[in-house]
Amino acid sequence: MKKILLLLAAVVAVLAIVLNLPTPKTADVANDNSFVIGPVNIFDGEKWREEKFVVVREGWITKLSMQRPDLDLPYRETQGQVLMPGLIDAHVHVWGEALQQSLNFGVTTVIDMFGDPNFLQQHKAARAETRQAKHADIFGAGYLVTAPNGHGTQYGIPVPTLSEPSAAPEAVAKRLDSGSDFIKIVYTHAGAAYQHAPSISYTELEATIKAAHQAQHLAVVHVADHASAMDAVKAGADGLVHGFFDRPANDELVQLMRSNGTFIIPTMALYEGMLRGELNDELLTAENPELPASAKASLNKSFGNTRFPAHFYNNLLLTTERLYQAGVPILAGSDAPNPTTAHGWSLLVELDMLQRAGLPLESVLHAATAAPAKAFALPHQGRIADGMKADLLLLDAGATTNLRALFHPQAVWKNGFEL
Ligand SMILES: [Zn+2]
Repeated sequence: MKKILLLLAAVVAVLAIVLNLPTPKTADVANDNSFVIGPVNIFDGEKWREEKFVVVREGWITKLSMQRPDLDLPYRETQGQVLMPGLIDAHVHVWGEALQQSLNFGVTTVIDMFGDPNFLQQHKAARAETRQAKHADIFGAGYLVTAPNGHGTQYGIPVPTLSEPSAAPEAVAKRLDSGSDFIKIVYTHAGAAYQHAPSISYTELEATIKAAHQAQHLAVVHVADHASAMDAVKAGADGLVHGFFDRPANDELVQLMRSNGTFIIPTMALYEGMLRGELNDELLTAENPELPASAKASLNKSFGNTRFPAHFYNNLLLTTERLYQAGVPILAGSDAPNPTTAHGWSLLVELDMLQRAGLPLESVLHAATAAPAKAFALPHQGRIADGMKADLLLLDAGATTNLRALFHPQAVWKNGFEL
């Protein structure tokens, strides 16, 4: 029977060639990274578009159009769902399986704020390629810049430290040589109420930022309080990689960040876990995602002795809200896999937090797509436009008004290949 069927199939195939029948193109497109998709509501990373169709060739977005283009490409027919760029988590620490875990939640690019430079090097080439991949693209800081015994030295990674301002240019050069895409600095103001480790001095901070800028690279700063944030912005930081909650951002800081164009990655998902610790459970119960065991373990870890006054949580939201209202770029980052966070999942939690801080839906989506792409000058990530990678999410039509659609993507593409 099988043989007869095979024979019949062969006859049909030959006839199709002889008669020059049109080849159906609606077939399986999962194993091909060239296709046309539509009609869809397109959020391009900045705004909703008029166009309804997207053309992808060999993993690259080549065209957006109003009508279905007449092209000899497989056609993925949709029913007006939402198509948006894959998510970018602008603050993570990745090793091991983290790039795969991120991708499972629709995070197609991560920005690593401190990790093994070799891991970063190994994955750099993939950023400009569209081969079939089971991992997110990574951009990263490599080793951070911190004081001897400062924050960042406690994790067992042998971080070279900074002890005088004159050593800053060499410290920056070494990191760039080992593949750092930007310079990440840890700093705490000398009089800060919440000292969490020895810190480099203000002069060292300034010298490091200056050296990074002279080498044409960004300098971003880890801060955890208002006074340190003010110092970092005054010293010329391109971005703050955490929010803070000891007090809400005051007018002086808000105006200075606005006029300097300083961005912020508030990492509120992390702080929520520290200050309140309710959101993971709330969202997990409601959304019930399939979390791997490693993610559950990291979500259930705690920071230990952390009893903070209740108003700190409000300060956290208020800082983000004030900066957003002033036009300061807000980038979404989870700081996974710190205690109470997990790769992928916690970026979705962060987006929920951004909405709680008053960002409208489009701004929340922007914070996890084109905003980090622009801030870190990512060449092919975070936007739906000609020349961008086909890292895409297909969400149900409700995603035009409801963020929760992100918890259940209908499809995810990495480099134009559907996962
Ligand atoms: Zn971090």
